[in-house]
Amino acid sequence: MDLFKVYPLFDIEPVKALGCKVLDKKGNEYLDLYGGHAVISIGHSHYHYVEMITNQLKNIGFYSNSVQIPIQEELAQKLGELSGKKDYSLFYCNSGAEANENALKLASFHNGKKKIISFTKCFHGRTSLAVEITGNPSIIAPVNVTGNSIVLPFNDEEALEKAFKEEEICAVIIEGIQGLGGINLPNDSFIKKIRSLCDANNAVYIADAVQCGYGRSGKFYSHDYYGVNADIYTMAKGMGNGFPIGAISISPKFQAVSGMLGTTFGGNHLACAAGVAVLDVIKDQNLMENATKVGTYLMDELKSMNKFKDVRGRGLMIGIESEEEVGPLRQKLLFDKKIFTGVSGKNIIRLLPPLTLSKREADVFLEAVKSLV
Ligand code: PLP
Repeated sequence: MDLFKVYPLFDIEPVKALGCKVLDKKGNEYLDLYGGHAVISIGHSHYHYVEMITNQLKNIGFYSNSVQIPIQEELAQKLGELSGKKDYSLFYCNSGAEANENALKLASFHNGKKKIISFTKCFHGRTSLAVEITGNPSIIAPVNVTGNSIVLPFNDEEALEKAFKEEEICAVIIEGIQGLGGINLPNDSFIKKIRSLCDANNAVYIADAVQCGYGRSGKFYSHDYYGVNADIYTMAKGMGNGFPIGAISISPKFQAVSGMLGTTFGGNHLACAAGVAVLDVIKDQNLMENATKVGTYLMDELKSMNKFKDVRGRGLMIGIESEEEVGPLRQKLLFDKKIFTGVSGKNIIRLLPPLTLSKREADVFLEAVKSLV
């Protein structure tokens, strides 16, 4: 059987990885400023992470959500503490799209409404409603079109107010930093407007923190920069450092009703062991502070090169926008300098490294860029 080929692939086969380094089959060592698409939060194969998953597997790897699984509570408690949302509750799932589907469903259960507002250039996943609200026709199948999606211009407060006047809005969903869309930051007043309109209209503010969350921005959720709480935070990617796990953090205003949400694999023992290890390391190694420190250093140095149209982001979620297409630069970084980076569209290099990235490793990248631009 062949693979169903939906991904353009680099001819590189990683066989081992440690920290911010990835080793391929041919013995080449790469610096990882892509983190396997924002997934590697605490560095590859961190010893505590490997130990926790291994020990868990030796005891029990899985049982269904019909029995006591105390490690779910341990993870929820640690997440509540580190994210500063101790009074929220947690529902587990397996991916970012699934987290968003559950958040949207919960919002609709809560207020009985249907219309969802999202914003141009957003990305919320590829499952039914999550993909419809991304507003990208090339990835929306006819069956995904429910007519409940309203995609508004990003950062446009007037359009937002108008939509609330014209429609019965169930929820507004927004990334704290748009990832795929090009590292775009919402304005301060825009997020506050979302909060106040949701409050005034019994709508739910959903913070998609799948890519910009889990400490990457220097705060636990990048939405925290705006000084207002969301009703639901969705997360995945960095949560398991590569082990599939997602979740939604739910404000106390929501009432859990038996059977309203459910999952087979969500919150399984192994995924939770991975999740606990990730939070332990983020806390013990002060990785949010490191993300701020090294991210700010990277952005300052990149700006001072005066070679780019714009350098923007927060912490270790950085976009480097060029007047020219960045494809050739990315190829040279990868194949000549052995550095993984990501892209957004044709003109933006996207950096999503492990939050353990050191200043010395950042310098390796900066030297490489200087020699190529
Ligand atoms: N939301 C955001 C902001 C994302 O960046 C992604 C994935 O890139 C998703 C949702 C979907 O996550 P997943 O691919 O785990 O379903």
